[in-house]
Amino acid sequence: EAITVQELANRMAEKGADLVKELFSLGMAVTVNQTIDQDTAELLVEQFGHNIQKVSDADIDIKAEEDVDPEETLKPRPPVVTIMGHVDHGKTSLLDALRGTNVTRGEAGGITQHIGSYQVKTKNGDKITFLDTPGHAAFTEMRARGANVTDIVVLVVAADDGIMPQTVEAISHAKAAGTPIIVAINKMDKEDANPQKVRERLLEQEVIVEAMSGDVQDVEISALKGTGLDELLDKIALQAELMELKANPDRAAEATVIEAQLDKGRGPVASVLVTRGTLKKGDALVAGTMSGRVRAIIDDQGKQIKEAGPSMPVEVLGLGGVPNAGDQLTVVENEQRAREVAEYRQDKANEQRTALAPTNFDAMFAGLANKAIEFPLLVRADVQGSVEAIKTALTNLSNDDIKVRILHSGVGAITENDVTLAAAGNAPIIGFNVRPNAKARQQIEREGVRMMYYDVIYHLTEEIAKEMAGELGPER
Ligand code: GDP
Repeated sequence: EAITVQELANRMAEKGADLVKELFSLGMAVTVNQTIDQDTAELLVEQFGHNIQKVSDADIDIKAEEDVDPEETLKPRPPVVTIMGHVDHGKTSLLDALRGTNVTRGEAGGITQHIGSYQVKTKNGDKITFLDTPGHAAFTEMRARGANVTDIVVLVVAADDGIMPQTVEAISHAKAAGTPIIVAINKMDKEDANPQKVRERLLEQEVIVEAMSGDVQDVEISALKGTGLDELLDKIALQAELMELKANPDRAAEATVIEAQLDKGRGPVASVLVTRGTLKKGDALVAGTMSGRVRAIIDDQGKQIKEAGPSMPVEVLGLGGVPNAGDQLTVVENEQRAREVAEYRQDKANEQRTALAPTNFDAMFAGLANKAIEFPLLVRADVQGSVEAIKTALTNLSNDDIKVRILHSGVGAITENDVTLAAAGNAPIIGFNVRPNAKARQQIEREGVRMMYYDVIYHLTEEIAKEMAGELGPER
């Protein structure tokens, strides 16, 4: 693991020559083009007194995170909702049922074309955006790419089946993302529906619904019969109100690519969610490493529209190639600039493929940004008793400066989903008497997720304690 002096200088927004000077005074004679190891890099970062959050790419790239909208430009925007839950508990049925309400209410008529996501209006006229990406992988993968688009998670739990492994997983994902949950207890039309049991079992997952004197909203529904849906929409609207979701609609647009494909007739088509600003026909844009000009904007009813504001899910035509899900789409001054940025990113992507372990440096800078450092990890063990014992032991290692954060824990083999979650959270996976399954193994390689295997709890805590101390650095 190494980084060149120049690259580090770029990341710190310092001059390469200054770093070389500092290194020289430390007794290391290196040039800007030579590499240094991570320990030396860390030392330098400290020497320069840096608290860097995200260091700029070169000046050429777009730095959206530095471009903050003034408070007075912000206007309320609809919430963006993702539906999660165990397989067969009714996620798809619910999405379809909600879409159905929308069609009748919006009297748009006809069959809606399948686009990634859609908007629904409550009886009060509040808009809600639903992302049509059932499955947890989509949620976590987007997050892994820095695209945290979901404001609220609707957790679907079948009233007859109750809490199942993927329910627990969904809760972990939502919690890891800090996204509030609304529980939709589905299949209430079934004879053996037992919503009370669902509420009780949710307690074990630290999801405490209002009926159990918590603050998580829950609602009984039947996606099949269409009951409880208005109530669900109202609760989402209420949650959104509490969150005071806002964005500046009067600026050049930014959007997140939800999915994208090459359409035979229409060329590259990107389903995007506008995050701020208003996207207009004719805008020059860059999405990931692709650039182009907006040729058409298509709304969730399949209609061509001229512009799209915050939280609107739309299809965009006119990109020169197919971007990746999770890519940021940004409107720029002109096509020339769009091309320039796209090319620069393409070059950089090529470079990074050959560079060594950049994620570790990213983790290092991320750690430097916060005062109370978090130490995220995932825990998998062979039996529930071990899971609990490990969780307790790890939690006890936390102090004021650094906190263990368990993103997810469970019994059994390490799964693909664990790996996705670990990659998103830049966390190692602890396997206690368990190993990854075949598919997870491939993904571990691909994502470069760190694995830590143990069969003695004491060894585990000792090792983690050491690493935590290391993260804090010498002067704490
Ligand atoms: P998903 O895997 O979570 O997307 O679940 P689906 O929406 O595909 O639903 C799984 C099965 O449960 C399907 O056969 C649905 O018809 C059925 N189902 C979904 N919602 C309800 C409901 O409210 N009541 C009943 N009785 N069945 C439902």
